[in-house]
Amino acid sequence: MSKDKARVVKKVQENRDITSLFIEGYGESFRKRRAGQFLTLKIMQDGQWSKPHPFTISCAPEDPLLRVTIKKIGVFTSLIPELKEGDPVIVSGPYGAFCSHIDEHGEIVMIAGGVGITPFLSVLRHFRNIRARSRVVLLWSNRLLDDAFALEELGALSREIPLTVVHNLSREAPGADLSRYARQDLPAVFYEPGRCSRDLMKKYLPSENPAVFLCGPPAMQDYILGELDALDMDSGSVEKESFTWKGAR
Ligand SMILES: Cc1cc2nc3c(=O)[nH]c(=O)nc-3n(C[C@H](O)[C@H](O)[C@H](O)COP(=O)(O)OP(=O)(O)OC[C@H]3O[C@@H](n4cnc5c(N)ncnc54)[C@H](O)[C@@H]3O)c2cc1C
Repeated sequence: MSKDKARVVKKVQENRDITSLFIEGYGESFRKRRAGQFLTLKIMQDGQWSKPHPFTISCAPEDPLLRVTIKKIGVFTSLIPELKEGDPVIVSGPYGAFCSHIDEHGEIVMIAGGVGITPFLSVLRHFRNIRARSRVVLLWSNRLLDDAFALEELGALSREIPLTVVHNLSREAPGADLSRYARQDLPAVFYEPGRCSRDLMKKYLPSENPAVFLCGPPAMQDYILGELDALDMDSGSVEKESFTWKGAR
């Protein structure tokens, strides 16, 4: 693990609440990272280093710059969109083991809520780089399509690797017609209204016993695990990551 002074070299506004930072100058330890791991980030606040906050590394482990993709939720994350190219940061890590053996599975289901997509973006970017043959179904819940991001990239990924993407839009009324979003050139990208229910999962889940990975807020996780139980799937074997953060101490 390392604690190195690094700096922001690029910033991308993914949508109104979500910003990606690209970071260079990190320590050697990050060269051995795996898809799905996280780092802690400190930034300068009023001339002092902030407390560290955890964020998933959203790029592939092979990518030369570290990327973190951060949703504005409180005091620290609201400062992220204000950072400028060249600003110094301190990153430590990599930490965690979520998805560490995901490439050993032939059938994979990823279930994400909101910014909980970040570990899966890392895995899918990695899968593209290594031309993985695993079959993946990504069920990504957002309130509305405007709350999602990386839509073009996910569409492109669905053409490059065996990936089905299901955008599950919880604020769209059940039964709503979302055909306006569908694109003929992206036949493996789907749009579904309502919650990520057992019926929706039944429609898209592979028939074989898939390995299930789940990242989203605790309430969403409880709901999903209940729906998996109702489908007689082994919810106990689901690998989970929650972004629960009680605040920097
Ligand atoms: C392993 C791990 C990986 C993470 N990866 C990412 C990532 O890739 N992208 C990202 O945007 N965030 C990620 N997070 C969450 C992120 O660390 C926090 O959102 C951030 O540190 C909050 O800092 P803040 O000062 O802005 O919010 P605070 O001011 O600390 O919190 C503001 C309010 O929001 C509540 N809150 C804080 N975090 C959350 C949360 N995650 N869910 C619900 N309520 C919350 C707090 O209880 C508080 O009431 C990750 C967390 C962990 C533990």
